[in-house]
Amino acid sequence: RLPSDFSLITAADIQRIYHKRKPFTHKGTYGHALLIAGDSRTMGAALLSCGASLYSGAGLTSACIPPEGLVALNTSHPEVMYCPAADLPEAWDKFDAVGIGPGLGQREKLLAECLTYVAKPLVIDADAINLLARASPLMGRLPGQCILTPHMKEFDRLFGTHRTWWDRLCTAREQAEARHIILVLKNRYTFIVTPDGKVYINPTGNPAMASGGTGDVLTGMLTSFLAQHYTPEEAAILACYLHGAAGDLLANEGMAVVPAGRLLENIPRAIGTLN
Ligand code: AMP
Ligand code: MG
Repeated sequence: RLPSDFSLITAADIQRIYHKRKPFTHKGTYGHALLIAGDSRTMGAALLSCGASLYSGAGLTSACIPPEGLVALNTSHPEVMYCPAADLPEAWDKFDAVGIGPGLGQREKLLAECLTYVAKPLVIDADAINLLARASPLMGRLPGQCILTPHMKEFDRLFGTHRTWWDRLCTAREQAEARHIILVLKNRYTFIVTPDGKVYINPTGNPAMASGGTGDVLTGMLTSFLAQHYTPEEAAILACYLHGAAGDLLANEGMAVVPAGRLLENIPRAIGTLN
């Protein structure tokens, strides 16, 4: 492979990719994102990803969460709509992009349903990745251009243990190409690996963000940018860069630790620094 397949994402790339919101637009312009997430003990992950979709600018965000999460959803993000799992078969057409996994627990049926019926941009994260690692027949049903966002351990559960990051990167390139998927391998410098062998390296973010829930925020951002009609490659670049940039804003304001929930309001602030 040529080294030119590797590129460091720059602020100029983000300026070029991101379209500023225009005056005569409305919520329909910015798409409808669906997050399938949460379980009775892991509802917080669902709430973080739904909040991230909202703050990243999707025109509408819907949450497919278990009913016991509804009060928490209405309290934390009243803007987000509720879509019970039973309604999904009738509802798929409404959504422009789907994200599945944060706090999903063992709800494998939802993942299987998603891989069967969703013919639109898809993000697969967290528990949904763990379910894929266990239920390998589902691995063969990944739609082309879907985005998987494993951290190191999830990556190794999916593709076997690796000794070094370089080994992981080589596997990611093989897998992305063979399966026509985008792999977002999360790390201090997150790698975005595309089906045509390109590797984008994200420079933003900082160790203040190293705590539970930050990945769930990234999933909501990715789903939101997909719903806003960015291509999967563009959505991955925008989401990773702006996720880190939101954390950097807080770190530069003196926060030595950035809880995931604090990222949310800083997503539009990070977007607002683009001109
Ligand atoms: P997860 O492990 O799924 O919660 O994802 C963690 C998210 O936080 C990923 O997007 C990481 O890239 C980011 N993150 C965690 N630790 C760091 C770090 N030390 N520097 C930059 N980004 C980080
Ligand atoms: Mg995670």
